[in-house]
Amino acid sequence: MRELDDRTIRQIAAGEVVERPASAVKELVENSLDADADRISVAVDAGGTQGIRVRDDGVGMDRESAERAIEEHTTSKIDGIDDLEAGVGTLGFRGEALHTIGAVSRLTIRTKPRARSAGDSGENRETRGGASGTEIRVEGGDVTAVGAAGCPEGTVVEVEDLFFNTPARKKFLKTTATEFDHVNTVVTHYALANPDVAISLEHDGREVFATEGRGSLQSAVLSVYGREVAESMIEVEYDPADEADPPTETGSAVGAESDSTDGTGTVEGVRGLVSHPETTRSTREYLSTFVNGRYVTDGVLREAVLDAYGGQLAGDRYPFAVLFVDVPADTVDVNAHPRKMEIRYDNESGVRAAVTDAVRTALLDEGLIRSTAPRG
Ligand code: ADP
Ligand code: MG
Repeated sequence: MRELDDRTIRQIAAGEVVERPASAVKELVENSLDADADRISVAVDAGGTQGIRVRDDGVGMDRESAERAIEEHTTSKIDGIDDLEAGVGTLGFRGEALHTIGAVSRLTIRTKPRARSAGDSGENRETRGGASGTEIRVEGGDVTAVGAAGCPEGTVVEVEDLFFNTPARKKFLKTTATEFDHVNTVVTHYALANPDVAISLEHDGREVFATEGRGSLQSAVLSVYGREVAESMIEVEYDPADEADPPTETGSAVGAESDSTDGTGTVEGVRGLVSHPETTRSTREYLSTFVNGRYVTDGVLREAVLDAYGGQLAGDRYPFAVLFVDVPADTVDVNAHPRKMEIRYDNESGVRAAVTDAVRTALLDEGLIRSTAPRG
């Protein structure tokens, strides 16, 4: 029995947060979204194993904030546990991503505060860093340079040689193609969840996709999945407040087997797009589900979508879906693990039934599935 040294402890902890290039990309894109960016461009080399660059036009940081940002457990997003319990409006809050990525790579941050933002008076502008930007370099956890840098407003984070100092973890990386698939999946989901932000992805210098950021989910789907898929998409729009009748045994699915007394609080809304039953792929990975705005790989929701198609899907074929499900924040646990995208519901069967109902209604309206007797 022996005590692990600090370095080993830190590197084990780092592996919990940053498992592969895609996990670093996820953290950096979340930071850009939290920074209120309108444009985010992600560029990776060799699937992200050699280089990752995330550039945004968000609020940026002054020198002091940038230096604090790479320290352990520093965040500008919450003050303490009270804020956490009140519910966090930002994607990040643990304050560990930049520190962790810096511990296992060569990290460069170039950042400059936005000169002016809504509700900002001239006074604040002075204290937020003036005209020049800041560049910080970190190598394997050591800050190797801090200085002034000319750069546009916003933030660029570059990650080179991920895991250069943790060979054991580096060995776990898969092929460039597989690592890029993971990166692509992550960036795609943020692009779909944030159609009002222009998000682009580049791999080895070639553009993979670029959304326009004009706010329509349809146009984000077109940019990400192409015309054939975009044109086959059917709108799903379900708002329990619009339901004329209170839930009955065979009618609205909301509240089915609900624990709550009135049963109506289970799902607040289901909206998004699902594909024509003949526009399918051979994997489930194009069934993208978001709960309260967060991407989740949730078997429950995926099954709920598939159920709605009834027998209309060919064997082993799966439709496209980009579905946003809103539930009361206190009825889900999304805090499971920073890396996992799992979720637990207080009323799983109620959520599932509501989603199936919403998707089935949309498909029925388009005449794409046959009406069947409501399931009892
Ligand atoms: P968290 O996101 O949990 O706060 P991070 O380590 O990801 O922790 O980031 C630390 C802090 O650095 C953030 O709270 C934020 O203040 C700042 N920061 C990180 N990325 C950006 C960015 N792209 N633009 C502006 N500020 C950023
Ligand atoms: Mg973060």
